[in-house]
Amino acid sequence: MKEFKEFHSEDAGIFFRVDKILFNKRSKFQKIFLFENKTFGRVLTLDDLVMLTEKDEFFYHESLVHPALSLLSKPDKILVIGGGDGKTVYEIFKHKPGEVHLVEIDEEVIRVSERFFKWEKGFKKKNLKIFIQDGVEFVREADYRYDLIIIDSSDPVGPAKKLYKRDFYLNLKRVLKKKGILVMQAESPLYHRKIQKKMYKELSKIFKICRFYISPVPTYPGGIWAYLFCSDYYEPLKSKIKRIPRRLKFYSRKVHRAIFEIANFLK
Ligand code: SAM
Repeated sequence: MKEFKEFHSEDAGIFFRVDKILFNKRSKFQKIFLFENKTFGRVLTLDDLVMLTEKDEFFYHESLVHPALSLLSKPDKILVIGGGDGKTVYEIFKHKPGEVHLVEIDEEVIRVSERFFKWEKGFKKKNLKIFIQDGVEFVREADYRYDLIIIDSSDPVGPAKKLYKRDFYLNLKRVLKKKGILVMQAESPLYHRKIQKKMYKELSKIFKICRFYISPVPTYPGGIWAYLFCSDYYEPLKSKIKRIPRRLKFYSRKVHRAIFEIANFLK
């Protein structure tokens, strides 16, 4: 029986029985391994790290997208960096945005996700523009101004390492509108405290408001995940929630308050 194992530390991690292999190939950037597991459904992994499982991805994608988007009444331009699996974009389209730009370095991730995930119609939206490019390069050259920027990158390994650097953050600020919001996935509060401290140290120098929030993501290291909300204008627990899409599975007005309440162990 084939197993997939992800090590979260040298002595602990998560494993799945591999019931069916759907895709297994090294792209120009990383190993893409997609398989089926009876409990979690389809599981997408990159370089042996779980990116998403069909069963629990909603915790992560709803937490990444809706806390910021629910504060913006008419988001005109949205930028997503990473997010090649398409689910972040799919959640964004629940808000009827103006123009969405997706910048994904590895086209193979998009091709595989279009083929195997049920949210692939998000890729076909007419107001979505896809750039197969390094996110660092894209923001360095971008002359757009965005209402919302979402960094849905993999962990700081391989091509994603550069997405955790100061000059990248400064460029993000440059291409964000004055009343814009930047949201980043911010790793595991249990395993990645050093990275989180570094991210917060840099971003809190660049933005007036910089708030961690957390949500459960059962199949990510530690089972809870952190996000960073940065803005010079919006305060997530004071700004008015304008619009929440119907039929979400995790995010709601009450959850909005709960996820920004940081437990003592994290303060
Ligand atoms: N939710 C996942 C997580 O938290 O680890 C991330 C999902 S998404 C699949 C991550 C994507 O970021 C991958 O498709 C990867 O190719 C892309 N990526 C990594 N480095 C990048 C870069 N420098 N520019 C653009 N996309 C990048």
